[in-house]
Amino acid sequence: MPKETDNARLKKEFKRLFKSMDFVCDNYLNKEGVPDKEREMFADIYQQLGQAWEFLGLQCDHWEGYKRTRDKKEVCKICGKVKGVEEHYLLLPAKGTKVIGRHIKPNSKKTFPTKADAELVKDSIRFHGAHLDVDVHNSYKAKFLKDKHEINMAAERIVTLKEDGIECAISEHTIDIDMKKPGRSRAKQTYGGFAHELRKKDLKHFPVIFSFDDDYRFLGLTILR
Ligand SMILES: [Zn+2]
Repeated sequence: MPKETDNARLKKEFKRLFKSMDFVCDNYLNKEGVPDKEREMFADIYQQLGQAWEFLGLQCDHWEGYKRTRDKKEVCKICGKVKGVEEHYLLLPAKGTKVIGRHIKPNSKKTFPTKADAELVKDSIRFHGAHLDVDVHNSYKAKFLKDKHEINMAAERIVTLKEDGIECAISEHTIDIDMKKPGRSRAKQTYGGFAHELRKKDLKHFPVIFSFDDDYRFLGLTILR
């Protein structure tokens, strides 16, 4: 809940805004004899006031509860927004931690017929130059080669961070780091193997330092750039 002074200010701003909207409505939109050109212009102004309402409404916690309208909708007593309607914008504090969304994991054992049906979150943000992507979905049937082949895609939560040409994807069973070497042709084969499978002289090409404890339990790794 905002502070008392914020509440009072917000209430006042809503009052002024609704007054302006009513004024435009009563004097230009719902009044007879207004020339078409003028009515059009004020319809535009009304739209813009509507947008101001939407943005101002983001500050409202609906702290005084809801009231029922004649058409049986529940609307906030302060900002007039309908209860439970999805917002198109987010309001984030300029300072401090920004919170968007909740930590969501796959939530069904079912295999859905399409990816769209299985999707729970597919969202991304560009944050001070870094790119973050969150993709959470339940299991679904994926089709290949003009629908001739079908495989079940497992339920997954994948978080991908892209920074400075490097991509780090964290999912339930793997952590993938892609260095995206410039100038490397796509046609070239990529190989993979456990460290213990590689010869010492080949291992020397990789600038990787493992972290581990006394019992040689793997704790992490550092890649030198
Ligand atoms: Zn409200």
